[in-house]
Amino acid sequence: MKPTNFQPTDDFWNPAESRYDDVPIGRCGRSGLHLPRIALGTWHNFGDDTPFQTQRDIVRYAFDRGIIHIDIANNYGPPAGSTEENIGRIVAKDLKAHRHELVISTKAGMAMWPGPTGFGGSRGYLLNSLDESLRRLGMDYVDIFYHHRPDPDVPLEESMLALHDAVRSGKARYAGLSSYSAPATAQAQAIMRELGTPLVIHQPSYSMLNRWVEDGEPSLLDTAAEEGMGIIAFSPLAQGLLTNKYLNGVPKGSRLDKGKVSESYFAPETLDHVRALNDIARDRGQTLAQMAIAWILREQGAGTVTTALVGASSVGQLEDSLGALDNTDFNSDELARIDEHAVESGINTWWNATQSRM
Ligand code: NAP
Repeated sequence: MKPTNFQPTDDFWNPAESRYDDVPIGRCGRSGLHLPRIALGTWHNFGDDTPFQTQRDIVRYAFDRGIIHIDIANNYGPPAGSTEENIGRIVAKDLKAHRHELVISTKAGMAMWPGPTGFGGSRGYLLNSLDESLRRLGMDYVDIFYHHRPDPDVPLEESMLALHDAVRSGKARYAGLSSYSAPATAQAQAIMRELGTPLVIHQPSYSMLNRWVEDGEPSLLDTAAEEGMGIIAFSPLAQGLLTNKYLNGVPKGSRLDKGKVSESYFAPETLDHVRALNDIARDRGQTLAQMAIAWILREQGAGTVTTALVGASSVGQLEDSLGALDNTDFNSDELARIDEHAVESGINTWWNATQSRM
């Protein structure tokens, strides 16, 4: 079934031959999976409430620039599931011949269908959800299948066995975790190693205003490195807060204007920090969005983040965000100035789920 905004177009498009000259691509942890340093997330901007052609333009632009990784989840929309349908349709129309160049991920863990079988970490939910995701995507496999969040009510062994079976069945190439704490990640990896399907990636929230992955001994960044897993950091722009767009009010059509992000993110003291960070970005010759992404990707030794997973509601935003790659180096003065304002701001809405496995 096609969404009402679907406009079939006959226009012919060939991806740029130069696409691998642009965004650097590297290995994810110690695995053979390769990921671009910036990847495209589809939360909020690829549901049926966004014109299909806008979505298609963003995906085409991303691929032309070497963004071969598109991140989805079963519940993205609205309505839930429509993002998988829309991305599946775009791939079928424009990128069918390039499917094996693409890294497509999906996840299960959040509420997807009514009743106790429609969320969490049970074997039934995870494997049924993956089947439904593949049907909506119109694909035989996804490249990465994530457990979207820890589920304290289900034995970790059961959730990990489901991820292992997803990979063994060929329906997923690799398995990963999202929003698991450092200790829970180590436990999960021990189980997966025993099963013979080591986890290759962790997807946590991470931004200048949400630094939980750096905390603890060992931190999640340390644990992932120790366990051979790459890190793909989601919401590096704090859903648009770490850009210049909210410095003079709430722009029409923005995520905040549409009620898709909590107003609690935009506390006056947080906006003061954002203004100060914007000044630092200007001194570096970057937009704030570019500096926020560059900072995520900065050199941190073994704990260096593999990929910044950004969202974009237009081609122009993605183009701006890719400019981050022009300068990911920070001198110690810049890092010290940033540290004064890159402070916890109560925006990690995924924290409770993360801690519930402790
Ligand atoms: P984000 O990059 O922090 O925010 C994206 C939003 O920022 C865009 O929708 C746009 O807002 C604004 N924006 C982007 N680039 C901009 C630029 N250059 N200049 C000005 N504004 C810009 O990312 P996110 O969408 O919150 O998260 C990224 C991805 O991570 C998601 O799409 C999803 O794939 C994944 N994710 C995973 C989880 C999880 O639990 N694993 C949770 C959340 C997200 P407007 O729409 O207002 O224009």
